[in-house]
Amino acid sequence: MTGPGIYTVGDARVACVVDCVLDSFTPQRLLPEWQDDDERLAGQMSGALTTDGRHVLLSIHSWVIWHEGKTIIVDTGAGNDKDRPYAPYFNHIKTPYLSRLAAVGVAPENVDYVLHTHLHVDHVGWNTMLVNGRWQPTFPKARHVFSRKEYAYFTDPANLTKRHRTSFQVQADSVTPIVEAGLSDMIEVTGDEVIPGFSFHATPGHTMDHASIILDSGGAKALFPGDVLHHPLQVLKPELMSVFDPNHELSLQSRRWALDYAADKNAICFSSHFPMPSAGCVTRVAEGYNWRFD
Ligand SMILES: [Zn+2]
Repeated sequence: MTGPGIYTVGDARVACVVDCVLDSFTPQRLLPEWQDDDERLAGQMSGALTTDGRHVLLSIHSWVIWHEGKTIIVDTGAGNDKDRPYAPYFNHIKTPYLSRLAAVGVAPENVDYVLHTHLHVDHVGWNTMLVNGRWQPTFPKARHVFSRKEYAYFTDPANLTKRHRTSFQVQADSVTPIVEAGLSDMIEVTGDEVIPGFSFHATPGHTMDHASIILDSGGAKALFPGDVLHHPLQVLKPELMSVFDPNHELSLQSRRWALDYAADKNAICFSSHFPMPSAGCVTRVAEGYNWRFD
């Protein structure tokens, strides 16, 4: 697959497959400390709002990577038919995700690996589909690679708080069926290569064992930062916390690590939630960092 919307990283090609777009968050609800009198930020914000200018656009999507004869998916959106009473924007939604996957030439049975930055509702949903009333693996031949610690955390009843109640439902319908089907490879997040070209790097804060995924192909690098970043404003002002980040200190540390990595290694950044095209570059400027969509 080549053509518009297809990125090249060394020998790899990368495409975005959208699941859905959230447009119900105001900027201040997503980033509670954001002040709209900051002109440098306002310019960056303007491209990431709904047409009425009142809400942020948050894309929920997968990245598909073709590398060394393998088809790899990073994160799998929110999924169809899921019961999400505490996350109403994902409750029993129906999206044409599989048609969009087909449009970039990918059949679910031909996916070799599914890699997860973390195990939240909007990152694991398409792992399973409802078939005859049961949650079946969508990618039946794929190895699903994710943090062992994170799965243990979100399945230990001791951690079942109000904040995590959706995450517990998510494991039950979107992750545990993968584990029970023998399709999971749970890993320690060490920064080591886990499949050819891909490594998982500890960037905790948004979740307890969140990983940023790095692709290295022939020296060219790409960063999949997951939810270390929710919005381009956080590139310009890393100290802006997302409402979804429970551990502010660790989130900021992880965000600075990711921004330094992207800027220093000239790594294209394939974000999890920036509006389309959602990919771009981090550069250093006098005030810190800047973001440019590519
Ligand atoms: Zn997310």
